[in-house]
Amino acid sequence: MTTNLLDFDLDALTHWCVVQGEKPFRARQLSRWIHQRGETSFARMSDLGRGFSERLSGIAEVRELPLRADQIAPDGTRKILFDVGGGNAVESVFIPETDRGTLCISTQAGCALDCQFCSTGKQGFNRNLTTGEIIGQLWWARRALGDFAPEVRERRITNVVLMGMGEPLLNFDATVAALRLMLDDHAYGLSRRRVTVSTSGIVPGIDRLREACPVALAISLHAPNDALRDSLMPINRKYPLRELLAACHRYLERAPRDFITFEYVMLDGVNDGTEHARELAVLLRDLPCKFNLIPFNPFPGAAFGGTPMERIRRFQARLMDSGYVTTLRKTRGQSIDAACGQLAGEIQDRTRRTLRLRLAAEASS
Ligand code: SAH
Ligand code: SF4
Repeated sequence: MTTNLLDFDLDALTHWCVVQGEKPFRARQLSRWIHQRGETSFARMSDLGRGFSERLSGIAEVRELPLRADQIAPDGTRKILFDVGGGNAVESVFIPETDRGTLCISTQAGCALDCQFCSTGKQGFNRNLTTGEIIGQLWWARRALGDFAPEVRERRITNVVLMGMGEPLLNFDATVAALRLMLDDHAYGLSRRRVTVSTSGIVPGIDRLREACPVALAISLHAPNDALRDSLMPINRKYPLRELLAACHRYLERAPRDFITFEYVMLDGVNDGTEHARELAVLLRDLPCKFNLIPFNPFPGAAFGGTPMERIRRFQARLMDSGYVTTLRKTRGQSIDAACGQLAGEIQDRTRRTLRLRLAAEASS
């Protein structure tokens, strides 16, 4: 199999070029062609030198992710589903807003952490994505949105969040290589604050990320105490709140002007009471942070309901009264099920159903 150049960050690409007997600067040229212009044909990479580009054509490629579905909702939210083989699909969502465009990407096919409110968690874990599959989502979306065109000055994708399927810090190496490409001036050149890793709270992963690539950090909190968080997110039994918050403090020591974003999904009658808001205010007292309240996205078989909007607003007001910047995530693209893990879950179901039907048909013939 040929080498997929999307699998390399710039250091790895430089090493690979040197192994091929080329000068290190060839890696920067290649990176600019691939990640800044979206070029896949080595023959068209005009400054590589004919010998090298001919050789590349035999040993390497820029491997595109196969597409399963691409849907655009009336509000402009675009949901893209990629086939990653073995009956698995992962999704990316592009969310346009007036002053920015955010691409949400996946890091694993499925997730092992089994959070009770999460459709991805309910699908179980299939496998880690490779660096090429993670960065390939951004590469694909940039091309589809026209961001690679040389005359485009204002890119449509200004921010990237790792909030799609999977737990990024349990696929650490591939995720960090992809993050480095996002930040690299010879690749996507995004600023550190415009790239966000969202984690369920993998404490050793947070510490490693701080050393390897301290981008903006979001923590899926969802509960103000260990008893409730244990019941919603089994990972809390391994890394309880005290340890998690200590890791957040250590993270901010490395980036003192930053803050942590706490994501909090609003589950009706579960974590959305006055007492929970009060507990949160005390828990996070001395940590520079903000809240992002997320309306619950229901999915078939979910054991929860979403908090009604007026109570979400009341919860928001309580946190703001306690001095916390608290934003409310808009529900976007509902007509195309653009909620975390949903479309992939549906497709996976359908695939399984198709498989079952086929097996049933084979058995009866
Ligand atoms: N595994 C990482 C990143 C992916 S999940 C994490 O857990 O942080 C991205 C965000 O969507 C998380 O905050 C997650 O808790 C939230 N989420 C999961 N299922 C949801 C649902 N059904 N409704 C609303 N938000 C959900
Ligand atoms: Fe995994 Fe995040 Fe879903 Fe939890 S919320 S199951 S960590 S993807």
